[in-house]
Amino acid sequence: MQHDYDPENIFAKILRGEIPNNTVLETEHALAFRDIRPQAPVHILVIPKGPYATLDHFCTAASDAEIAGFWRAVGQVCEGAGVEQGFRLIANAREHGLQEVPHFHVHVLAGRSLGPILS
Ligand code: IMP
Repeated sequence: MQHDYDPENIFAKILRGEIPNNTVLETEHALAFRDIRPQAPVHILVIPKGPYATLDHFCTAASDAEIAGFWRAVGQVCEGAGVEQGFRLIANAREHGLQEVPHFHVHVLAGRSLGPILS
């Protein structure tokens, strides 16, 4: 499938330093920062630095180094966020996934019981 990427999306602007962010972790291949509208005591977004719109775009088009580097950063965020009681990862994609920002990102949610996700 064809994956389009809009370089004017807000996370691209954050990566270019055009919009401030509350950085938690920055590595060669990933940036993690606090969500501006947190849904839990811990709500961190982890994004790859490359121009990928969704998880499927990222995992089919990115290099092995980018994929490994990104998921390593997700793990470091989860370990570093004080989430011994657990956490949840969410990756929304396109219209049916209610993705708001079209740059691939993983939400790391923790710090409270998050309730059932499927019913
Ligand atoms: P999505 O629905 O998975 O695309 O989630 C996008 C997330 O980005 C939402 O939880 C927003 O609150 C968050 N967000 C939007 N703009 C900013 C920002 O400038 N800084 C941090 N988080 C943002």
